[in-house]
Amino acid sequence: MTDRRTELAGNLARVEDRIATACAAAGRRRDEVTLIVVTKTYPASDVRLLAELGVRQVAENRDQDAAPKAAECADLPLTWHFVGQLQTNKVRSVAGYAGFVQSVDRARLVTALSREAVRAEREIGCLIQVALDAESGERGSRGGVAPDGVPVLAEEIAGAQGLRLDGVMTVAPLSGAYAGRQRAAFERLMEISSDLRAAYPAANMVSAGMSTDLEDAVAAGATHVRVGTAVLGVRPRLG
Ligand SMILES: *Cc1c(COP(=O)(O)O)cnc(C)c1O
Repeated sequence: MTDRRTELAGNLARVEDRIATACAAAGRRRDEVTLIVVTKTYPASDVRLLAELGVRQVAENRDQDAAPKAAECADLPLTWHFVGQLQTNKVRSVAGYAGFVQSVDRARLVTALSREAVRAEREIGCLIQVALDAESGERGSRGGVAPDGVPVLAEEIAGAQGLRLDGVMTVAPLSGAYAGRQRAAFERLMEISSDLRAAYPAANMVSAGMSTDLEDAVAAGATHVRVGTAVLGVRPRLG
């Protein structure tokens, strides 16, 4: 019988090993890549164990689950990333705990986030979620703005009180030209990031890669990988 802490420690060590190996293969320093553990669907007790094991960055995709979990873990030295599709009526709650919102994909969300960040007297780091499979002017089925929408959204975030423009995020598309081509998708995201950094040099976060494709993301140049299943196990339900 292995207890949960031992299981999580083992999984974390394996993920750490994969990241280190991918960095070495890409000629990158290990400290250029930050692991964010996606704790969605798992209980606050797991988040607590992860914090004891040294995890400092965690991510959630649904406010209904994240808000109570973040409250239960308020004593821990954690930074919470919101990575799911975000409705404007949830923004006030999210602004109460999230240090980063990685799924910023429309002007209305920028307005709402700015208002609530100011109200909470917090600064929220914003990543623009890019939908690599979305047509010009549209949004992706799982959220995200089409690549050609990034400059306008960047300008809106950069000009908004209470928000900091930190970079870009993507989820490898399941359909379209990049379906099944994670490495190419992440390389495209790097191009978008480098265009963004030309205008906003501090917006240097590139969040890409999950349990199955983190090596592709590190090879392409991601600064942050978001790993759920490989650390916590296969999720008990869709999340
Ligand atoms: C769930 C989720 C992840 C983690 O996915 P795994 O395959 O479990 O590693 C990463 N990013 C986002 C946006 C997610 O919703």
